[in-house]
Formats: sequence, structure tokens, C-alpha cells
Amino acid sequence: MNDFVDEARSRVAHLLRMANTTDDRLRAQIIEYADTTPEPPVISRGAGIVTTGCSRCLRTAWRQHDSEGPLWVCGTCGHVEPITMRCPECDVDMIPPRMGAPDRWECPTCDRVGSTLASS
Ligand SMILES: [Zn+2]
Ligand SMILES: [Zn+2]
Repeated sequence: MNDFVDEARSRVAHLLRMANTTDDRLRAQIIEYADTTPEPPVISRGAGIVTTGCSRCLRTAWRQHDSEGPLWVCGTCGHVEPITMRCPECDVDMIPPRMGAPDRWECPTCDRVGSTLASS
């Protein structure tokens, strides 16, 4: 139990540090996000921390990974946006990498693979 508590606390602390805000409302949103997503964030190995611009507030969104697959989480407004990838040949959604796995997406109908990190 102590391990879990420490894990959760350090995760919240990590997210708050990334958000770097003193706004209590924003901090509460981040803490709520951490509380409602049980898995600790996975920083993809090799790629390090990956960020993008939030589509809502244009601040920094951080790449996270929950049980559904990878997603962007804005450290400022709490906006969450799933990361998806389509096969350019079959025009179907590709299968996201497993949690903690390298960023390797696979097409369910052909043998094409892709990476959302390739272009950056
Ligand atoms: Zn935002
Ligand atoms: Zn395909």
C-alpha cells in the first residue's frame, strides 16, 4: 500500500511540476486527472518526454498512455485528446502500441506499421 501511495503522490507531483502553475483550479484538475487514471504515465523509452501544442489553449500538452492507448494531456487546461493514426493505404484506424511499448502502430488489415513520432 505504501508503494501505491508513493507512486500516486509522485505522479501527481510530477504532473504538477510539468504544469508549473500555482492556479488552484488548474492544480485541482490535474490532481483529478491523476486520481481518475490509475496507471502511472508511461514516458516512452528512447523518445523521452514528448509534447505537442494543446488544441484548446495552445499551451503544452504531454504524451501519456492509458489503457485505451496513447493520448495527449494538456498540463495547463487538462484537455485530453486521444492520439490516433490511420493507415494511409486502407484508411482504417491503426492499432496503437501497448502501454510501455515502443511507438509502433500496426494496421489491422495490411502489414504496414507506423509511428506518430516519425515526423517530429
Ligand atoms: Zn490546454
Ligand atoms: Zn493498412
